[in-house]
Amino acid sequence: MKRLTLLGATGSIGRRALELVEAFPGLFRAEGIAARGSDPERLADICRRHRPRALALGDAAAVDRVVRALGHPRPEVLAGPEGLVTLAREVDAEVVLSAIVGGAGLLPTMAAIEAGRTVALANKETLVMAGSLMTAAARARGTRLLPVDSEHSAVFQCLEGHNRAEVRRVLLTASGGPFRLLGKAELARVTVAEALNHPTWKMGAKITVDSATLMNKGLEVIEARWLFDLPPEQVQVVVHPQSIVHSMVEYLDGSVIAQLGVADMGIPILYALTYPRRLPCPAGRLDLTRVGALTFEEPDQERFPCLALARQALQAGGAAAVVLNAANEVAVAAFLAGRIRFTRIAEAIAEALDRVPPRSLRAVEDCVAVDAETRALVRARLETAGMAAGVAESLA
Ligand code: NAD
Ligand code: MG
Repeated sequence: MKRLTLLGATGSIGRRALELVEAFPGLFRAEGIAARGSDPERLADICRRHRPRALALGDAAAVDRVVRALGHPRPEVLAGPEGLVTLAREVDAEVVLSAIVGGAGLLPTMAAIEAGRTVALANKETLVMAGSLMTAAARARGTRLLPVDSEHSAVFQCLEGHNRAEVRRVLLTASGGPFRLLGKAELARVTVAEALNHPTWKMGAKITVDSATLMNKGLEVIEARWLFDLPPEQVQVVVHPQSIVHSMVEYLDGSVIAQLGVADMGIPILYALTYPRRLPCPAGRLDLTRVGALTFEEPDQERFPCLALARQALQAGGAAAVVLNAANEVAVAAFLAGRIRFTRIAEAIAEALDRVPPRSLRAVEDCVAVDAETRALVRARLETAGMAAGVAESLA
């Protein structure tokens, strides 16, 4: 029986993970559960079904509502960012699934690593912010960071049993998102509903918008750099609209090894939970004769500047990727709230990269500080610029 802590249990990844826990009752047990707390009924349902020992709510203000929904008996309830850290550190889990969205996942994920727990990592933002610190901590503690992100799970599988020194490059596939074929002028007019209509994957709102801007792939380039200890130029991106080839590794002899499957996160989640074993995942099976053609094309970095911005941040090193991530989180939230247009997201990130002074990262506290500084700067700029440009009218 593998004991699990699920950070972000109510999200798209967390819910799929809980379905797997239910599909293999003798195999997994959810001991620790964490979420923001905005969905008390769902949390109550999770606690009834799984009887975790402890529940942590990132939003301390949600405790009363959630406790009322839980009734009795109920798990120990922890609250606020410190509650998330305590849960990740103290609950006796072998594997911690890191599936909170965004920078809020950084400290609990770090705490899980430092407590020596295997981390199944969905939350790519944590590695973007603190990749050098997290991988160093994992090495020092002798713990594993196992990828959940489908591309990184694919790369991880394509590297297994091969000689790392013989890798020529890693090819991350990208669906291209819902706006793959739109021109620049049309991109400025897309709506939130259109951005949330991803062609191949069903995911949380933030990552769905990231997929539409291609920032998701930019974050994934940085994620791959840290997970697989690769120089940035060895991580390349190819657009593959069918989302069947999840990524590839090219070796020196010209052989390219790929991992394929249906677009269902259950497969990479289960692999991270059972590695190095495989179990029959309750997911659709891939029938290539029904899929038909698999196509590949170059990403267009002019229409989708976020990919180049992520590379720029990776090249700059230090705190630049923290700035990239924080600016993106604030801008995406503003877009989802209808306050800025789609193309303003990339502009806001570029401005933040120019304005926040470079800094080195010695500890996660440095990441937290740069993250807060960047969020404040971008929020202020989006507010004033938004009012000046009368964006609200032009979006209506
Ligand atoms: P989601 O929005 O569906 O869920 C987010 C989860 O995080 C929820 O449980 C929410 O309660 C929790 N959360 C948010 N803020 C919190 C806070 N301050 N404190 C505690 N919990 C908080 O997101 P998702 O699609 O499940 O994505 C989760 C992570 O996994 C993201 O980093 C995303 O990039 C990554 N990921 C997701 C997918 C996917 O298919 N959904 C694929 C690859 C990677
Ligand atoms: Mg991915």
